[in-house]
Amino acid sequence: MEQIIVQVALDAPLDTTFDYCWPASENRQPTIGHLATVPFGKRETTGIVVAIKEQSTLPTERLKSIININFELPALSAEWIALCRFAAEYYQRPLGEVALPALPKNLRSLKPAQLEKAYKKLAKNLPKSGEGNAGPASPNLNEQQRIAAQEIAGSKGFTPVLLYGVTGSGKTEVYLHAAQRILSDRTNDGSAQVLILVPEINLTPQLEGHLRARFPDLTIATLHSGLAEGERMQHWLAAHLGQAHIVLGTRLAVMASMPRLRLIIVDEEHDASYKQQEGLRYSARDLAIWRAHQLGIPVVLGSATPSLETWQHAQSGRYRKLELRDRAVKDAVLPKVRVIDMERDKPAEGLTSTLIAALKRRMECGEQSLLYLNRRGYAPVIHCDACGWISNCKRCTAFMVLHRPERRLRCHHCSLELPIPRACPTCGNVDLQPLGRGTQRIEEGLAQLFPQARVLRIDADSTRRKGSAQAAFDQVHRGEVDILIGTQMVAKGHDFKNLTLVGILNPDTALFSHDYRASERLFAQLMQVSGRAGRAAQKEDGNASEVLIQTRYPHHPLYAAAAAHDYDQFASNLLQERKQAGLPPFIYQALLRAEAKDLQTALDFLAQAAQSVSHQGIIVNDPVPMTMTRVANLDRAQLLVESESRPQLQTFLKDWMQVLRATKTRVRWSLEVDPVDI
Ligand code: ADP
Ligand code: ZN
Ligand code: ZN
Repeated sequence: MEQIIVQVALDAPLDTTFDYCWPASENRQPTIGHLATVPFGKRETTGIVVAIKEQSTLPTERLKSIININFELPALSAEWIALCRFAAEYYQRPLGEVALPALPKNLRSLKPAQLEKAYKKLAKNLPKSGEGNAGPASPNLNEQQRIAAQEIAGSKGFTPVLLYGVTGSGKTEVYLHAAQRILSDRTNDGSAQVLILVPEINLTPQLEGHLRARFPDLTIATLHSGLAEGERMQHWLAAHLGQAHIVLGTRLAVMASMPRLRLIIVDEEHDASYKQQEGLRYSARDLAIWRAHQLGIPVVLGSATPSLETWQHAQSGRYRKLELRDRAVKDAVLPKVRVIDMERDKPAEGLTSTLIAALKRRMECGEQSLLYLNRRGYAPVIHCDACGWISNCKRCTAFMVLHRPERRLRCHHCSLELPIPRACPTCGNVDLQPLGRGTQRIEEGLAQLFPQARVLRIDADSTRRKGSAQAAFDQVHRGEVDILIGTQMVAKGHDFKNLTLVGILNPDTALFSHDYRASERLFAQLMQVSGRAGRAAQKEDGNASEVLIQTRYPHHPLYAAAAAHDYDQFASNLLQERKQAGLPPFIYQALLRAEAKDLQTALDFLAQAAQSVSHQGIIVNDPVPMTMTRVANLDRAQLLVESESRPQLQTFLKDWMQVLRATKTRVRWSLEVDPVDI
């Protein structure tokens, strides 16, 4: 019986695909992009057909037969497979390890009957968005918004656009209008698809609400890690079958199969959450740009504080820069930013008298305030005054954080949790003291300072239950909160209409970080969180909205730049520094990380790895312990390699990975291309 050879990518840590055979006489023949169930070792598994061949490197009699081809599911497109192939090559991972995890789990084990059921459900569950009534009319775009939306929707071919707009400038409206024009463009015969990425799962409901209100006749799918497997599959299918006009999601949505994709939007493109930090360590923003390039479509990168990479491209003309300079709402203005010198105005309960007075004033006017502190828990550490004992995690180079309401000590880096000790474990002293402040302690202090105030804390601890984050944000929007205290969860994107004061507590640590990106990040954070204040028109008799930064370094230039809302100047200074220091975006980097039971083993592995292939034109630095050396009982070290040429670095990495994959070692290692945390 004649057989055709089918090359299948499987989710296996081997950098190869696998050949199987399929009878040529069968009625239905597999094509690239079909899902195939195949025997693999002693089990069955599902993979993706990535090529049909006439010959295999293996003799035909040694090839195993495909068990089943899932013909009920339309094949994944060649473009989608090419996207996976690119990501696999660029990030140096096997193709199957990229492509298969990008599919919903259920899909892989689905039988035809189940799929049919899912299709039926799909028609029912993802109805057109209208709950009967059309959404609120869109506001008239201002001139800058109008130009931006027009440029985006009217662009031809691959067009990367930086939509550079201050916080509150109405970037969302530009996205909606550009999307509307592309979706209704008749040359797309009404079947175009738009992909919108947001950095945080908590930002999806707000935007989804806007989309559903604005596009009552369209089908909108969402993709993020908060969906149950069944839901995820339905939304994924809606995208894959071309039923969903708009797909809204977090970074993982960049891999959605969308056969008629015509526009990609990456909101808050600078956000670090677009970088996946384990497994395939990809940048969703970068993949979005590649995808747009592949398809010859526009991609919009929106931000008030673009990443330096993006800014550099916009300055050099590679990306088109469209600017929104003012807040969109009439009479809304950017808040006044002031620094408060904590040496002069000593804080009580973590709050300076200036900030306390400002909070009081806002409450009297019935306006909301936000206190931003990027540190959850009650106190970052507890200690014993008598003997100097301190709550170190016994498994990590980190402190155990005091969580008082939960009565636990928790390590935020491994899963370790302990009850709070009654007495010092070394000397028996019963008077253990918390050091420093986290969000829980600020919350407690506020209750003492303002017993009448309605205080709400939003952080990873207060929002563990599914749906609780959304409920909390709704409470703020409904005006049931006077003072909101939160971590970076509250800093981004939210359009709190009645919030007029932002207090920023303790941002100083980032000023002196070893990480060269720390100042870029801090600046973006300050601008983002500041941007939550004063988004509505200022009341005629009201106080101007303001941001108060509590610092020990009131004269630091970074705060001066933040106070001036001067991203341009800040970015061009920083770019110059980076250029002089030979740092990204003027150099390309990859980081090899190793973990072992002891540090020396990890360092030795890296030293050996550094020697294993020749590296002309590549700078190979010395292996060093990671700043947080020990996590969960493993010591960690890293080796940075750099090159001025991206292709040269790519070629080197390919050779290098081949050698390392063939190396027998107990050390756990991983490679990150374009690392963000060094
Ligand atoms: P950004 O994402 O740029 O921070 P948003 O898109 O959240 O800003 O918009 C801020 C506010 O401005 C929203 O309340 C939005 O409804 C409003 N807005 C946007 N465009 C206009 C406009 N042209 N006229 C009036 N209000 C607008
Ligand atoms: Zn002690
Ligand atoms: Zn730990």
